[in-house]
Amino acid sequence: MYKTSTHTLMIIEFQVFSKDYKEKILNCYHSFEYICPKCGAKARFHRHGTYQRFITYLSISGDIVFEPLEILRLKCQSCNSTHSILPGDIIPFQVYSLPVVLFLCEQILIKKASIRHTVSKTKCTIQTIYQKLNLLKRSLTLIEYYLRQISIYTATASISRTQALTFLLLPTMKFSSYFHCHGHPIFLNRRNTISYHFYFAAVLS
Ligand SMILES: [Zn+2]
Repeated sequence: MYKTSTHTLMIIEFQVFSKDYKEKILNCYHSFEYICPKCGAKARFHRHGTYQRFITYLSISGDIVFEPLEILRLKCQSCNSTHSILPGDIIPFQVYSLPVVLFLCEQILIKKASIRHTVSKTKCTIQTIYQKLNLLKRSLTLIEYYLRQISIYTATASISRTQALTFLLLPTMKFSSYFHCHGHPIFLNRRNTISYHFYFAAVLS
């Protein structure tokens, strides 16, 4: 659905969500103040085309909808590298956004809804729901490490999926801070992306 290569570098803009992406990034023609993750030059970016990917949102009625999102690329005038700017609620290489993954896990693990009920409520497939539950399970070690680093989780026992999810759903949870802890966004599937490089940036102005 969207094209990347091993030379694509990503800047994840944690201050912008996909709902605001068009207004705050795509249609924004001021200079981008990022520091180039490759060469270190500051605010030397030019717009360099766009590409389309799909992302999921929760509709008001609670089902999951797919919508296209046009992603902006920037080119560094100092080193000619090209960077995609991603909103903070995207999981790179996945169509399902971070809030939707957390929502699906919440329905099953915290609200104790049945799989069948969640399928009919969200219009997701059973496979999708199991995939997201597995994604949380596979990420538990990294999540636990992060929660211990920031002293949110201090018990001696290993964290459960439900406990981890409860922390991740806190309104104060900072996913940029998780990124800084591990050097990659939460729920990124490292098996497929070992050769990709991710860079974090925040708007300086
Ligand atoms: Zn550069």
